Amino acid sequence: MCGETKPEVDFAFADMAKGTRQRHCRKCQAAYRRAHYLANREEYIRREVVRIAHYRVENRALLIAYPPRAPLRRLWSRQSRNARFRSP
Ligand SMILES: [Zn+2]
Repeated sequence: MCGETKPEVDFAFADMAKGTRQRHCRKCQAAYRRAHYLANREEYIRREVVRIAHYRVENRALLIAYPPRAPLRRLWSRQSRNARFRSP
């Protein structure tokens, strides 16, 4: 960490409601985060794969719970898809 004296805006909020700032400047924080990512890349990727998998499962459940209304369903049907590519 640089330890330099910098303007307040160079420090991100720790708690915006309380108006408190982070201890390290944005530049040092970014460098730290980047280094942490590179040192723990596999773990970050593993967590992201899990997060996306959950998201997909949730979305699939939402699709089943809220099927599209008739016009959208018609748009998605094989028949109308073929019709759009049929020559006049
Ligand atoms: Zn710094």
